[in-house]
Amino acid sequence: MRFIARIATGLLVLLVLAAALYGAVTALRWADGRDGFGLLDRRPEQPLAFSSLNRYTKEAAGKASFRRYFTTMVVPQQASGSTEPAAVTKWERRRVVVKLLNDGGPGVEAYLRRLVARLNRMQGEVRFAVGDSAPRITIRFLSHGAYTRSIGDDSVGSTRTQYFLTSPGLIRASIAIDAGRNGTPGQVKATLIHELTHAIGCGGHFSSPSDRRRSVLYESSQITAWSQNDAAVIRILYSPWIKPGMTAEQVQVSLRRYARSRD
Ligand SMILES: [Zn+2]
Repeated sequence: MRFIARIATGLLVLLVLAAALYGAVTALRWADGRDGFGLLDRRPEQPLAFSSLNRYTKEAAGKASFRRYFTTMVVPQQASGSTEPAAVTKWERRRVVVKLLNDGGPGVEAYLRRLVARLNRMQGEVRFAVGDSAPRITIRFLSHGAYTRSIGDDSVGSTRTQYFLTSPGLIRASIAIDAGRNGTPGQVKATLIHELTHAIGCGGHFSSPSDRRRSVLYESSQITAWSQNDAAVIRILYSPWIKPGMTAEQVQVSLRRYARSRD
């Protein structure tokens, strides 16, 4: 009888230990999970994976002019002296936190939140969020003097990115904005959307004056919203058709294949 009691006690202890272990693992997962604490922002409007691509993107991909627009935005021109191949970079993390390191002036944070919400409506691969915890994209506003000293005098904003040309693609982006030279709130916004577009993997520029009103990536753009083509580029960039490290030629092939694909 005593022997059986001892076995029963032993089993009970094992059961309690197993329950405690299960509890600890669950708690850890919760703390580590994307639903954990630490970030205050809206829930995604589309909680499930969805196709970011629509009829417009497919029709666009069938046109040579849009395919040129795409590679201009997404595959940056090689800088002189650079040994880096010109290729696609994009985020592959499920969640990318954007952090404002300091105050950009009235309305800037609200504007940034609207941009991030729009990015999340455009595509379903990466969930962007404005927050403080483990930021991957940072935005700093500098005085004109400080900007000139650290970045130079020939720009009003700049984005430095760190990336792999294979998975996981982009791992870090730091945006600096010359707050002193962006005189009006509209200019601050135009610079912010331009640099944020670089920070999500669109490293190119449009330089022809005919593109002045067409893209946030015109060199001295004044636009404060992504155009329909800009949005189409972002949708396709964050779809399975485009992978980090693709060259302009590979992008062209993939866009043509997408245009011909069935829905
Ligand atoms: Zn730029």
